[in-house]
Amino acid sequence: MRSKLPNVGVTIFTEMSQLALAHHAINLGQGFPDYNPDALLMQCVSDAMLAGHNQYAPMAGVPTLREAVAEKVARLQGQEYDPGDEITITSGATEALASAMIALIHVGDEVILIDPSYDLYAPVVRLAGGITVRVPMTPPTARTKRFTIDWSALEAAIGPRTRMIVLNFPNNPTGTILGDGDLERLEKITQQHNVLLLSDEAYEHIVFDGEPHRSLASRPALADKTIVVSSFGKTFHATGWKIGYFCAPKALTAEIRKIHQFIVFSVPTPIQHGVAAYMRQHARLDQLPAFYQQKRDRLKAGLEGSAFRPLDSQGTFFLLVDTSALGNLKEKDLAQRLTIEHGVGTIPVSAFYEDPDDPSANHRLLRLCFAKQDQTLDRAVEALRAVRGVGA
Ligand code: PMP
Ligand code: GLN
Repeated sequence: MRSKLPNVGVTIFTEMSQLALAHHAINLGQGFPDYNPDALLMQCVSDAMLAGHNQYAPMAGVPTLREAVAEKVARLQGQEYDPGDEITITSGATEALASAMIALIHVGDEVILIDPSYDLYAPVVRLAGGITVRVPMTPPTARTKRFTIDWSALEAAIGPRTRMIVLNFPNNPTGTILGDGDLERLEKITQQHNVLLLSDEAYEHIVFDGEPHRSLASRPALADKTIVVSSFGKTFHATGWKIGYFCAPKALTAEIRKIHQFIVFSVPTPIQHGVAAYMRQHARLDQLPAFYQQKRDRLKAGLEGSAFRPLDSQGTFFLLVDTSALGNLKEKDLAQRLTIEHGVGTIPVSAFYEDPDDPSANHRLLRLCFAKQDQTLDRAVEALRAVRGVGA
């Protein structure tokens, strides 16, 4: 069969989850919580079902949910989106990202990805007929302890055929967030070049140490050319509900909705009503950073002095650990052996690069997900602290 994506297999998240399951390992790989959403949220969704909200939702989403998103974005980012024609509810951030790419990338357009980059971007750009241009982030050093964005390299990658830059901050897998200086730099760059920005802000509500989330929507000059994508699954501990949204200026929204309406048409009605009702409780959203910061700190403190040296995580529910103490294995081989021999599943950061086998993609780093109950984190810490070496 002639494949449209000949080099794509199952995702690293599926692969590592299956391996963890097969070996009864603690799964700190694929990013999902091992606890339930808030009972009130589940109540809101079942109330909506029982109240009869069980048929097709409007294509763009239930109006009360779009209004709740508009209010939230205005409250937190100061940007007014019209819920009528600038906010759309999607089947997770995944569908929003894919619909935006399919709608806006034309054959031969160049799309800049910042590596390490989330696994769906490159294949969907290719499906849309686009060409990826990959710009690496600067890897951590003993001093920086986190990946940083190389804005000069990004600007140098922009050419006459560049149609779009994909950004993802808070960043999966690195945990890096945007500072004010980053937004200023991006604003300057995009004043010089006519490009669209696709901003994957799936982890917008998980930012630590008192920092705000700086959405691209917070600056009008950027918002004008940006599609902001988010995920309720991440925000509300309900990754299995597959519900998200995007905000974009009217003309962009109209084009993306043309794809959305033929891929899913609309997303589950009772979940939309339930999330809308739940979103009236601002305080619960505002507690999220503290909830996850405690987990980050627990995992980080637990691993200090072990063979897994934690880097800094400014946001998301991921922590990178440096595994240099365990030798020079490729990250993926190390992740597999850790799962099989030591009972802890992780994700190799190399999977977020174009060629995971290339030495330039292997920084001896693994990604750990800390969206786990404290006891799960403690068990993982115990298992990881016992690791002195891998393989024979
Ligand atoms: N973007 C990033 C960076 C993610 O990490 C994820 C999921 N983990 C998604 C998009 C997809 O989000 P959703 O589950 O809402 O489709
Ligand atoms: N985004 C999740 C992660 O990074 C995985 C989602 C998926 O399995 N597609 O782990």
